[in-house]
Formats: sequence, C-alpha cells, structure tokens
Amino acid sequence: MKFLEYQAKEVFAAAGIPTPQGKVAATAGEARAIAEELGGAVVVKAQVPIGGRGKAGGVAVVKSAAEAEKEAQRILSMEIRGYPVDEVLIEKAADIKAEFYLGVTVDRARQAPVLIVSSAGGMDIEEVAATHPDKVAKVWIDPLIGLRPFQVKEACYRAQVPPELIQEMSGFIEKVYRVFKEQDAILVEINPLALLGSGELIALDGKMETDDNARFRHPDAKGVDEQAEHPLEQRAKELGLSYVKLDGEVGIVGNGAGLVMTTLDMIQRHGGKAANFLDIGGGAKAEVVKNGLSLILSDPDVKSILINVFGGITRCDEVAKGLLSVIQEMEVHVPIVVRLAGTRAEEGRALLAESHLATAESFQEAAKKAVELARA
Ligand code: GDP
Ligand code: MN
Repeated sequence: MKFLEYQAKEVFAAAGIPTPQGKVAATAGEARAIAEELGGAVVVKAQVPIGGRGKAGGVAVVKSAAEAEKEAQRILSMEIRGYPVDEVLIEKAADIKAEFYLGVTVDRARQAPVLIVSSAGGMDIEEVAATHPDKVAKVWIDPLIGLRPFQVKEACYRAQVPPELIQEMSGFIEKVYRVFKEQDAILVEINPLALLGSGELIALDGKMETDDNARFRHPDAKGVDEQAEHPLEQRAKELGLSYVKLDGEVGIVGNGAGLVMTTLDMIQRHGGKAANFLDIGGGAKAEVVKNGLSLILSDPDVKSILINVFGGITRCDEVAKGLLSVIQEMEVHVPIVVRLAGTRAEEGRALLAESHLATAESFQEAAKKAVELARA
C-alpha cells in the first residue's frame, strides 16, 4: 500500500518525527482557509502517489492566503503523470538552510533493509548517486539485529553530514527505521529532510510504501489502495483485461502472460522500454483486442505498439481479421507492428499486407521495428 505525503507524515508525526504544521484540502477555498489559519508563507503541494511533483509544477511556495488559493486552484486542476490531483497539502513554509536525503528500503539482492543517507537532498537520489557518489552512503541492516548506532554514525560520516548535526540526525534516522519496521514498510523516504534556520531537522517530504503481505497486521493503516492504481489500470480492471501500466514508450499486446513477459524483455534488449503489460489471453476475440488496443491508445506515453500473437488454438488469420475490423473503427495515431506466428500465420500476414500495419516475421525483427518507430 502506498501512502500519500500527508498520510506518511501523519505516521511520522505519531512516531515523534518532526513534520511541518499543515492540513489537506480538496478545494481552493479550503486551501485558503487553512493558509489563513497557519498564517504567513505556506507551501501548496499536490497529493499524488508519485515523486517529482516539484519538477512537474505540483509544489508552490506562496506568501499569502490569497496566493495559496490561486495556486491550489491551479494544482487541483493538474494531472501529474496520469494522476489527477484531488487534494493539496497546505503547510507552513519552512526556512530551509540545508537539504538531506534519507531513505530505508529493501535490497532484495542482499536480502536486507538498506539505509541510504545523502547530504545532497531535494534532488533525485538516482541522479545524486550518479553525479556525486561521495555524497551518498548506504548501510545494510541485519533485520534480526536491527540498525546499530555505529551504522547510523558511519552512514552520516560517509554521506558528509556536517559533524555538528550527526547527533541529532542519528536520533532522526533511528525513528525513521523504527517506522520502517513497525509499519512493515518496503520504502520510507524523506527527501528533503531539511535543516531549518532554527537548527531543527524536519521531514519536508514523506513517502511510504508498505508490504501488502503484512496488511492484516495493520487494519487501521491509512494509505491509498485502489486509488493509487493508475487510472488506466482501473479502466483495464473494469474491462476485465490483465494490464499493468509501465513507464516506457512501446505499447505491448500479446496472448499469454509468458509471451507478454518475453516481449517486454525483447523490447528492452532492443533499447526500448515497454509502456505496459497487456495479456489478451488465448483465443482472443475481436472485442477483447479492441478493448485492449483502445486502452493502450489512450495512454499518452505510447509512441508505437507491438502486437505479438502466437497462434496455437488461436488462429492467426482470425486475429488478423479481428485486428483489421477493429482498426477500421478506431482512430490510430501511432504506428503498429504486428508479429504473427503459429497456426495460419502466413494467411494472417497476407491479410494484413493490404493494411497500413507493419508486419514482422520474427520476434526480434518485430521488437526492433517497434522500438525504432517509437523513436521516429
Ligand atoms: P517532490 O518534488 O514530489 O519530491 O516534492 P517535495 O516535497 O520534495 O518538494 C519539492 C521541493 O520543494 C523541495 O525539494 C523543496 O526544495 C521545496 N519545498 C518544499 N517545501 C518547502 C518549504 O516549506 N519551503 C521552501 N522554501 N521550499 C519547500
Ligand atoms: Mn521530495
């Protein structure tokens, strides 16, 4: 389960981790009232279950309640990477002296939680790790022993946290690890963890994701469930399709989960990235193909589509006919590559030859074409 920023911060505050004073609003009027109550400069922040809101224009620091209302109006009408903004968090603006990064997540390869500390906070941590590796420290935690004080200090020193801050930072980190453990989290991230002018450390941002397998231990947890799912995933569910939204640019349609997984790999191998997983199942009917395609076509990230069908029981000429009828009725604005193999594949390809769909004989060729077309 994912927690929105304000939900994560409620958990943090209950664990004694300092967070800014604030409240969540669903309308610009509510935002104004909260800003008036807080007084002075405030921050208006989009509440969506993804990071990078600042870069997307979903975070605004303003000086008055009137401005807060205006910014809330703007942010509430935004959609950030597919997520409509339904709520904004209004917080007292912080006087930031320095920004740090603090995260605890699960390192599956090492089968242990890992604590990540950086003195270059506020930025994308992957970017910091690439450009300033000396400013990022990781320590792995034995889950049975727990996080030891010396490990916390080591992480702080290695991350170049100023020496005079290490004592307070250590206490902060220990509380965050406690939250990670108590909530059965798979990620707790605070970026930025800010040093205020007053000398206090505070969680300016908050992200948390918990392990769904431990859900039964947290019946009262307040995170987002279904809501956090991408809107396209929700629509897919309504259509009865097994669809997962991914962050690449090549839309994928295949019959059979194994084939679709392999298609994702093949796209990756050819330098592309899949925009989704979509399995239309065996013996796919025209209706299913149509629903699947319309779903993928409504994804603005999709720049090309690869339809990969292996005909076993499914006859490729039937698939081709289905595709042609479906495509005639639809507005197709991206190139589509079709790869048919198996039962009556040649007949299927012959049918498609007269259409504007690109075909490919081999899987490799199809993946290569789809990646190239996505870039064109
Ligand atoms: P994210 O972009 O989704 O990670 O959202 P953040 O909560 O991290 O906010 C983005 C940036 O906004 C932060 O890195 C800060 O630099 C800035 N910011 C957030 N809150 C405040 C605040 O209270 N005062 C000021 N001056 N800047 C803030
Ligand atoms: Mn952040």
